[in-house]
Amino acid sequence: AIFRRFAKLMRWSDEFRTIGVRTNADTPHDAAVARAFGAEGIGLCRTEHMFFGEDRIALMRQMILAPDHESRDRALAGLLPLQRADFVGIFEAMRGLPVTIRLLDPPLHEFLPTTEDQFEKLASALGVSWRRVAERAEELREANPMLGHRGCRLGITFPEIYDMQVRAILEAAADCTARKIRVRPEIMVPLVGSVEELQAVSLRIEAVAAEIQQKGGRKIQRLVGTMIEVPRACLVAGEIAEHADFFSFGTNDLTQMTFGFSRDDVAKFLPTYLERGLLRVDPFSRVDAPGVGRLIRLAIEEGRAARPDLKIGVCGEHGGDPQSVAFFHAAGVDYVSCSPFRVPVARLAAAQAARGAGTGSGTA
Ligand code: PEP
Ligand code: MG
Repeated sequence: AIFRRFAKLMRWSDEFRTIGVRTNADTPHDAAVARAFGAEGIGLCRTEHMFFGEDRIALMRQMILAPDHESRDRALAGLLPLQRADFVGIFEAMRGLPVTIRLLDPPLHEFLPTTEDQFEKLASALGVSWRRVAERAEELREANPMLGHRGCRLGITFPEIYDMQVRAILEAAADCTARKIRVRPEIMVPLVGSVEELQAVSLRIEAVAAEIQQKGGRKIQRLVGTMIEVPRACLVAGEIAEHADFFSFGTNDLTQMTFGFSRDDVAKFLPTYLERGLLRVDPFSRVDAPGVGRLIRLAIEEGRAARPDLKIGVCGEHGGDPQSVAFFHAAGVDYVSCSPFRVPVARLAAAQAARGAGTGSGTA
């Protein structure tokens, strides 16, 4: 009886809401759970999570520690079939719904071991000296990793990594299409702050696509778009939109960089800010309408002015917060994306926003 009432509420919600609800999912299991909750696609597949599995982490480390291009290519060739199989699984689970796959985002040191013991093990597995592993880990260490060598910066300095991922996505799409499974891949570039960055990565994506197409003899339909999560990207959104099929707001990083609050350290002072009323809510949970929200509105306006058919989504944690959903609805996004278990809440919140019950025009 409870489920029937829940299903009815969801049906009503879907009748009224005007924005889509997708999910953030990295595995076929999460994708299937989210579909059951009514997700209409994947708005964010974080590919880095796929590299932590038992069978991959060694290859990933081999790739990171590679002394030259040849050995890096060998490690990437080992990762390609694994990554391709991941995408096939996700495309199968989503059966024709759009799937936004983000190219590698975190700094490489996150994949390296941290203790001496682990260094020893890794060195012997790779047949290199302990010193070599320790030196490379030291080279990769950054003072501010969140503002450092990550996102598209990684794709620009180590283009082979993104080449492999794009190949895996498009080959998986071709494989599914050959088996009559519909696929709608959307390749997403993270941490773009300038149109030049997006253009540099897009050029490589097109080159890989052209090569695969030539071999397979068939064009693989795809979109190529960007995350909007660096404040500068909001300010030059018009230029960026001319080279993007879609925008997806990464409101976690956008909040971090707009406030200058580190996501990893905010817990040290946020409780005091909340207690003393310097902030009314945690801006990482509910979008900050006057500040971060203003950048979002600007980017939507300028992005759509440059490219009226620009598809716009949100894939930060805020996509599952009802009051933030009301804000995004009012700002004019096409969809929000959130974790699988928040999908029903987002569907309801989107319907309430469409009925004018939200707080979209004020502070979220
Ligand atoms: C974001 O920054 O909002 C985002 C979705 O990416 P991540 O949380 O993985 O940095
Ligand atoms: Mg981010």
